[in-house]
Amino acid sequence: MSASYDDNNIFAKILRGEIPSFKVYEDADTLAFMDVMPQSAGHTLVIPKTGSRNLLDVDPAVLSKTIPVVQKIAIAAKKAFAADGIQIAQFNEAASGQTVYHLHFHIIPRFDGVALKPHTGKMEDMEVLKANAEKLKAAL
Ligand code: 5GP
Repeated sequence: MSASYDDNNIFAKILRGEIPSFKVYEDADTLAFMDVMPQSAGHTLVIPKTGSRNLLDVDPAVLSKTIPVVQKIAIAAKKAFAADGIQIAQFNEAASGQTVYHLHFHIIPRFDGVALKPHTGKMEDMEVLKANAEKLKAAL
């Protein structure tokens, strides 16, 4: 059985402003910000503001607010980074690869013939993340 939601996770801290992030979009229900260990240029995370561990325990009413933002960011990311495609990833519990237990969707720009960098691999340069956040915001 899965554990319950714990608001000490890193994304809850980002939502509370306790740790910094490069935000690209925010509304009353949802936040989007750059992943610090991007698997490709422009890798962005979309999270609901209401806490749930993942897709398995989220309130469908919350999910219905999150998914349109996933689409919005995916469309903007394709344009901003001139991507050939956009990969959406979402993991549920450790066995599937989840490492942060606040529901999030990965928006990962993909480029023909370019392999993905490893999941939670290497921390990106902060200036690069800042520049990519600006590019994405400009495309929104
Ligand atoms: P998961 O493995 O849970 O699907 O993905 C968690 C994601 O959060 C990873 O892609 C990882 O790079 C990213 N991440 C981990 N810590 C931080 C952080 O402090 N800030 C941001 N912006 N992303 C983080």
